[in-house]
Amino acid sequence: MKKVMLCTMMSITLVACSSDTEETAEDVPASNTVEEKETQEDSVEVDKEEENEDTEQEEIKGEENSNSDSKDKVLDDGTVEVGEPASIQVVVNKERKLPADYIPEDLIVPDVPFYFTEDHPKKQMRAVAADALEKLFAAAEKDGLDLVAASGYRSFDRQKNIYDGYVAEYGKEETDKFSAQPGTSEHQTGLAMDVTSAQVAFQLEESFGNTSEGEWLAEHAHEYGFIIRYLEGAQEITGYTYEPWHLRYVGKDISSTIHNQEVTLEEFFGLHPSNE
Ligand SMILES: [Zn+2]
Repeated sequence: MKKVMLCTMMSITLVACSSDTEETAEDVPASNTVEEKETQEDSVEVDKEEENEDTEQEEIKGEENSNSDSKDKVLDDGTVEVGEPASIQVVVNKERKLPADYIPEDLIVPDVPFYFTEDHPKKQMRAVAADALEKLFAAAEKDGLDLVAASGYRSFDRQKNIYDGYVAEYGKEETDKFSAQPGTSEHQTGLAMDVTSAQVAFQLEESFGNTSEGEWLAEHAHEYGFIIRYLEGAQEITGYTYEPWHLRYVGKDISSTIHNQEVTLEEFFGLHPSNE
């Protein structure tokens, strides 16, 4: 409850907590814990490396990227329904929606510490992402850090309930500033996990980025196939303010390139900004 209140307040006043304020009181546990690129060996070949990088990215886009191919469907309101929601490279944002009936088939609960103990669907991630998250958490622990998972998979219906609840309370215009419309939350992919730590009292807030855990994630998440999805200063592109706690699994094929280029997923795939 405390988390929701705080997060909501922040959302209204600071437009923070953007994509992760969707949780209603019923989602919040009663517990009081509120919640490769290959390295170039020869530095003389920097220019060549950059060329290779471009080439590699083109190859990835051509071979595997399902985000700009013809399977995407343009809806009446001009937004897009993504054609391959199960791709681990899927780009979901305010203009690229998941089908209402999309439910990942391989959801499991990663063996990592959560800030709550009871069973809840939001503990789940897709198997490949859960496996990577376990490796990431193990590496962080080895470095003396104390990461805690907070929220992973979120179904279309649950997001709809959450969103509709906020609309009833705050109106649509205000709600759209901090809560994702159903189908536009990356949490529905099963590839996202919000993480936090005791240093920020298990909250999802920007100051997490300045904690040792947040800084470690920004530096190392890509080594495990994750990216910090909502970068600072990229709101015009991603549609969301900075969320240092929101990890998105994209696979090691592209995570390090995205990290090294310091770009958003939208930019990496050459997609339009997600803001309306
Ligand atoms: Zn999130």
